[in-house]
Amino acid sequence: MGSLTESKRQLAWVFDLNKCIGCQTCSVACKVLWTEDAGAEPMWWMSVNTQPGRGTPRDWEKMGGGWDDGRPVLGKLPTPEEFGGGWDFNYDEVLRGGRGRDAHLTKVGGSKTWGMNWDEDEGGGEFPNAYFFYLPRMCNHCSRPSCLDACPNDALFKREEDGLVLRDEDRCKGAQKCARACPYKKIYFNEARKVSQHCIGCFPRIEQGVAPACVRQCPGRAAFVGFLDDPAGAVAKLVRQWNVALPLHPEFGTRPNVYYVPPLAPAPLREDGSFDEGGSRIPPSYLESLFGEEVHGALDLLRTELDKKRRGQGSELLDTLILYRWKDALGHLDRDPAEIVWD
Ligand code: SF4
Ligand code: SF4
Repeated sequence: MGSLTESKRQLAWVFDLNKCIGCQTCSVACKVLWTEDAGAEPMWWMSVNTQPGRGTPRDWEKMGGGWDDGRPVLGKLPTPEEFGGGWDFNYDEVLRGGRGRDAHLTKVGGSKTWGMNWDEDEGGGEFPNAYFFYLPRMCNHCSRPSCLDACPNDALFKREEDGLVLRDEDRCKGAQKCARACPYKKIYFNEARKVSQHCIGCFPRIEQGVAPACVRQCPGRAAFVGFLDDPAGAVAKLVRQWNVALPLHPEFGTRPNVYYVPPLAPAPLREDGSFDEGGSRIPPSYLESLFGEEVHGALDLLRTELDKKRRGQGSELLDTLILYRWKDALGHLDRDPAEIVWD
C-alpha cells in the first residue's frame, strides 16, 4: 500500500460552471498533449459531461470507491464499454462517397452504445423548464487520495511541492486497484503498456511556470489554476476567501482539489407563462447532491453579488469570475509555453 503524505503546498483548479460552454477545448488540449500514444487512444484525462446526464464513464457516481473507516474502498472497475468513445465517423462516405443526402454521419468502430460528448449529452427537467449545464472533470489530485493508498505496489505518490498525485509507471503492475478505489473514476488502463494512467496535472509545464493545457486553452475563461495558499490568487480567493467554489461530491472523503462555481439558472416559467422569480430551473436538491449543503450559500452569494453589479456597485468576486484579463486565471503559472525549448 502507498503511504499518505500531506503536501507542503496544494495546486488546485476552479471551473466556473456559469461560464463553461462545453466546447471540450480543455479535453482536446489535454488529449493532443498526453494521450495520443499507443494504448492511450480511448483515454480522456480531461472530460466534460452534460449534467444531469450519466457521465463518463457511464454512471460513474454509483461505482463506489473512496474511504470507509480509514481504509480505501475498492469499488467497481469501469469497463472500456462504460468509458465509451474512441470511435471515428464515416466522413469519407458522407463527404466524398457521392451519395448526396442518402449518406448520414454515423460512428465507426469503438463503443456502439456510449461515448463522451455523445450519448451522455443529456439534460433534465420538463419543457418549458428543461435545463442542463456542463461539468468539466479531471483527476482531483486529492489531498486524501484513496487511489494512492489502494495501490499494492507503491506506484502512486503525492508531490510535496504542489500536491499533484502522480504515478511511477516502472512500479505499476497493472493491478488497477487505484482505478477501483478512485470514486471519481478518472483512472484508465493502457492495454498496450499494461499500466494504469491518469491526469499528470501537466507537471512538466508546471515545473516551467506554464499553466496546465486545460486552463490555458479554455476559450470560455471558465478555468482557473493556482495554489490554495496564495491569498492573492483567484483560486484561493474563490475557494478559501469567498467559499463560492466547491468540491464535487465532498462526501466521497478524498478531499478533492478541483472546485466548481455552481451554476445559476433562469427563473422557471409558471403554467400561466409568468416567471417564478424566486425559483430556479436547476433543482437546488440536485446541486446539493453534487456539491453538498454549502452550495446554497455559494448560490446566494453569487446572486447577491450579481445584484450589486446590476445596481452599478463594485464586486471583486464578480470581477474575478468575469476575468477581464485572462492571465489572471493562471496565478503564478503565466509563462508563455512558446518561450520554452521543450526536451
Ligand atoms: S475549455 Fe473551458 S469552456 Fe470549453 S469545455 Fe473546457 S472548461 Fe468549458
Ligand atoms: S480523483 Fe481519483 S485518481 Fe485522482 S487523486 Fe483523487 S482518488 Fe486519486
